[in-house]
Amino acid sequence: MDKRRIGIIGGGPAGLMAAEAAALAGARVVVFDAMPSVGRKLLMAGKSGLNITHAEQHEALLQRYGAARPRLQAALDAFDGNALRDWCTGLGIETFVGSSGRVFPVAMKASPLLRAWLVRLAGLGVEIRTRHRWTDLAGGEFVFDAPGGRVVERFDAAVLALGGASWPRLGSDGAWTAPLAAEGVAIVPFRPANCGFEVDWSPVFVERFAGEPVKAVTARSAAGTLPGEFVVSKWGVEGSLVYAHASALRDGLDSDGAAVLELDLTPGRSVERLARDLERQPAKASFSNRMRKGAGLDGVKLGLLRELDRNVAGLAPLHLAQRIKCLNLQLRRTRPMEEAISVAGGVIWGEVNDDFMLASLPGLFVAGEMLDWEAPTGGYLLTACFATGKVAGMAAARFAGAG
Ligand SMILES: Cc1cc2nc3c(=O)[nH]c(=O)nc-3n(C[C@H](O)[C@H](O)[C@H](O)COP(=O)(O)OP(=O)(O)OC[C@H]3O[C@@H](n4cnc5c(N)ncnc54)[C@H](O)[C@@H]3O)c2cc1C
Repeated sequence: MDKRRIGIIGGGPAGLMAAEAAALAGARVVVFDAMPSVGRKLLMAGKSGLNITHAEQHEALLQRYGAARPRLQAALDAFDGNALRDWCTGLGIETFVGSSGRVFPVAMKASPLLRAWLVRLAGLGVEIRTRHRWTDLAGGEFVFDAPGGRVVERFDAAVLALGGASWPRLGSDGAWTAPLAAEGVAIVPFRPANCGFEVDWSPVFVERFAGEPVKAVTARSAAGTLPGEFVVSKWGVEGSLVYAHASALRDGLDSDGAAVLELDLTPGRSVERLARDLERQPAKASFSNRMRKGAGLDGVKLGLLRELDRNVAGLAPLHLAQRIKCLNLQLRRTRPMEEAISVAGGVIWGEVNDDFMLASLPGLFVAGEMLDWEAPTGGYLLTACFATGKVAGMAAARFAGAG
């Protein structure tokens, strides 16, 4: 039977979803990936439980995409968090909502989902060619580096789902920007998103506290005041609360080279109440005891207080309370992009239509993290990758006249 042939280049969540959508629409689908196997970043996301989406109201979820929301909304309306959970169920993967509203597979890993998905794709006739690195677009033909040498392919339509540029050893190295830029496609340079930041810790602080989580604090930046926790590392700070502020902090660093995260170590108590509690501590008691009994601070939180204000022990109760409630953490720079959970930047929105087809290259669609959007952690990244992949795959099949 003469089926229309669709090439999907990049076998991450966006590409595999595009493959499924195009195959369901009746196309003959071939997925190409540079790596020896597909879905490596998805599997890595599974190491921390695979937070696949978020259970909050759809409107709240849409807001997480910031400036890109208007361009992502139709895809997310059509394939929202509930649809994604139903899709998982269809693969035999049950999900649950964690206490923070984050959604995970019950197995808390990605491998059963990826396995079941690949079986479904094989059943739909999707062919997967690994170790095929796309390098060039020459006169409408796609050029790949493959184990046997150069391979040239022509498709009735194609989807590029090549990911961003974080964790390049998992396959998404951002090298795709060169062949697309050569075709005149405008690309916003990548920047780290959901990344750690470097701090000039003292050696003593690093030795005692690197690896320690700082729990139940709030942090303030241009992104607002957010509760959560973060981790002290030997080079600085990382973890969900830092990631939630990362784009605002990164943009601060980009503009004037300085970014400060204001920490409140006792978010449950007002300055006045904390000052009173500190006042009640015997003057003879050691600073550590006064902090532990009067403010509930010990361990890494007390360490942070001392590290960030070397004179803190000499402060009067009111000033001490003010410092505990507003501790300035000076950030030096973002950690390298290779370590970030995701990136900002990518193909600019002006280059694609509502189906994510490149206006200058009709029949070529783009999906997932290679588009210019960013979102915090919480399942929002995968949700938008799946949703854009589905739209692009269906539209590629339509363009090709499949079905
Ligand atoms: C440690 C970690 C944990 C994460 N945890 C979560 C989480 O819990 N929840 C969440 O929502 N998000 C999470 N993410 C982010 C999420 O995994 C990504 O946003 C998502 O995988 C991006 O999907 P994608 O399909 O756009 O690209 P990718 O998953 O990066 O896939 C792109 C594919 O394209 C292939 N490729 C690249 N270049 C070429 C080329 N030239 N030729 C051929 N193939 C090529 C790559 O090999 C890769 O298989 C995490 C990321 C990391 C690094």
